[in-house]
Amino acid sequence: MKRIYSIDAIDAVAEELLRAVSPQENTATLVTLSGDLGAGKTTLSQAIGRALGVKETIVSPTFVIMKRYATKDARFSTLVHIDAYRLKGKGELVPLGWEMLLREPRTLILLEWPERVEGAIPKIAFPIVLSHEGDEERYIDF
Ligand code: ADP
Ligand code: MG
Repeated sequence: MKRIYSIDAIDAVAEELLRAVSPQENTATLVTLSGDLGAGKTTLSQAIGRALGVKETIVSPTFVIMKRYATKDARFSTLVHIDAYRLKGKGELVPLGWEMLLREPRTLILLEWPERVEGAIPKIAFPIVLSHEGDEERYIDF
């Protein structure tokens, strides 16, 4: 889907996106979020968290790299939010338990800055691309 949206539409965009994502049967489901700083990757991740019924506040994982949340969703029981912005290659995912994480069933992984960890992203990942469309709007393609 290609769409230009304002912040008011973010929850609708998140819900549409979740409808488009097919959960993997026995492994985690990986969604990558590409786009410049401020393109709306974290804001969209927060809306996806709300749509999944995450009760905790989803904060940007820029400094902690990875955060894990329990959901109230029928398809995904766990949301894992990763920001690879500060990582210097796929090797830096290893200490985070990346391989194990990819094998977790009923887990939705949202990964910001997949370009930073090239080579670590399985082909089955669901790519989302975001970009600025003026100050108030964003373009999304998935
Ligand atoms: P990123 O994680 O891609 O660096 P953020 O989500 O942290 O970006 O920041 C996006 C900023 O842009 C937020 O302050 C948000 O409120 C603002 N914004 C304005 N319009 C939109 C929109 N349509 N969608 C998402 N964010 C928007
Ligand atoms: Mg971010």
